[in-house]
Amino acid sequence: MTDIKIPPDHPRAESLRIREKLIAYYSEGMVAVAGLMAHGRGETFDYLLGEKTTKSALKAINAAAVMLLTAKKPVISVNGNTAALVAEEIVKLAHVTNAKIEVNLFYRSLERELVIKKRLKKAGAHEVLGVGENALAKIPELSSERRRVDPNGILVADVVLVPLEDGDRTEALVKMGKKVVAIDLNPLSRTAQNATITIVDNVVRAMPRLVETVEKLKCQGKSELKEVLLNFDNRKNLTEIIALIKESLSELAEKGETLSFGESAI
Ligand code: ATP
Ligand code: MG
Repeated sequence: MTDIKIPPDHPRAESLRIREKLIAYYSEGMVAVAGLMAHGRGETFDYLLGEKTTKSALKAINAAAVMLLTAKKPVISVNGNTAALVAEEIVKLAHVTNAKIEVNLFYRSLERELVIKKRLKKAGAHEVLGVGENALAKIPELSSERRRVDPNGILVADVVLVPLEDGDRTEALVKMGKKVVAIDLNPLSRTAQNATITIVDNVVRAMPRLVETVEKLKCQGKSELKEVLLNFDNRKNLTEIIALIKESLSELAEKGETLSFGESAI
């Protein structure tokens, strides 16, 4: 960790703690510089959403839980930011959904892959795919190092969870016929727009909720689960979130109200 002491009563203590965590893992070589920038971009949208898990996000989390539970070969794709922020939840989710965990980086280097693998192993992962020579398969349509995936993981997966992914790769995965579940605070990003299910929420709030929801739904029958997916419309859900942002901004502009921040769903 860095030397900065965050006063517990600081109004943005939690946000500062997350930033410090990312900076510390950046120093360890886990998070890329561009990962720090991506986090800042995410924070902007989190502000606009009142730093809450919205009802629309809860609907997407529910649908995502079902998609993962009913998948034949689910894979959780992990990058530097997600390993830094939610390694324990990734391992828990892999356990309850029988999913494989694969390191998949925009800025790939063996050093970064190994640091991420170590963090995931420490969090309890049995197996971590996509490291070093194991990432020898290639996603069609993508260039350079960004196309490398594990032939036992993402290449053969039917459902891929991509918390924080780049738009090009999301599109490429969808074109390969995979169902993509994304966690992305920006409802306008190409990832959010192209994923099969988009959870517009902070990964630090969404991942524990996703684990909880999978645990809750695990005992339900196949037909009940299918019903959840049939009733979920990703386009409609994204539109609801964009409308929510618009409404809260309009209220602020008209009444001069302040945004309310907190944990509960809005
Ligand atoms: P795209 O390539 O999908 O159009 P982009 O180029 O703007 O998006 P990327 O860096 O490729 O952004 O992807 C990172 C995404 O992760 C961004 O949309 C950012 O808002 C989002 N993000 C960053 N931090 C978090 C977080 N803690 N929780 C959820 N989403 C986050
Ligand atoms: Mg991008």
